[in-house]
Amino acid sequence: MTSSSGPVGDPPGIIDAPSPNFDVRIAPPDILVIHYTGMQTAEAALARLRDAKAKVSAHYMIDEDGRIFRLVPEERRAYHAGVSVWKGERDVNSRSIGIELVNPGDEFGYRPFPDAQIDALLTLLSPIRSRWSIPSGNIVGHSDVAPERKIDPDVLFPWKRLAEAGHGLWAEPAPAPGEPIGEGESGAAVFALQAGLTRLGYDCAPSGTFDARTALIVKTFQRHWRPAQVDGIADGETRARLIALLRAGAQG
Ligand SMILES: [Zn+2]
Repeated sequence: MTSSSGPVGDPPGIIDAPSPNFDVRIAPPDILVIHYTGMQTAEAALARLRDAKAKVSAHYMIDEDGRIFRLVPEERRAYHAGVSVWKGERDVNSRSIGIELVNPGDEFGYRPFPDAQIDALLTLLSPIRSRWSIPSGNIVGHSDVAPERKIDPDVLFPWKRLAEAGHGLWAEPAPAPGEPIGEGESGAAVFALQAGLTRLGYDCAPSGTFDARTALIVKTFQRHWRPAQVDGIADGETRARLIALLRAGAQG
């Protein structure tokens, strides 16, 4: 491993730790996917992301102390998203930059992401977004693109802080009344909810019936944008936040 100055604008001291796990992109990246490593130690995560047999990787891994490791060049396709969909794109790996944040995750002791780690992430996001055209609406978590398989980076990830720094969408509208909509219901309000989730980027084809799939997508939405209530029930506030995010996304 060597320390490198890297492309212009990169934070100093990025540590090169090349992974063999990448191939050729079919498109330039316009999505950014945030992960947690979900392993007991940073060392174990780094070893796995560099193991040819594991066939997994990411472009960057950021340790809890803020050290940034570069594993795959941004112009290459890393193996981080797996079977995924965002805004209809099914080859999310080809279209995205993947960043792993060291955290034991829900299996080994999920804990807050330290400020040093998030500060380092923010120093990385600006130069990445100066090199590639990545709209705020395409800065998402692994759970957002793979809701049936993944929950990372989960509810402790500070999406609000990221948005305040100019990266990603956030909305906190005034508390909105309105009847909760849940599994088993059907009708125009359900159709509108599914259409809104689809427009935001989720794979949630509108049918007008609130089925188990819809509940999963609502829960995934809440994990990112309403972390105080992750229950799969679209109450008034969940729906108000969705509408506010769509408005924010439409403005770029
Ligand atoms: Zn992940």
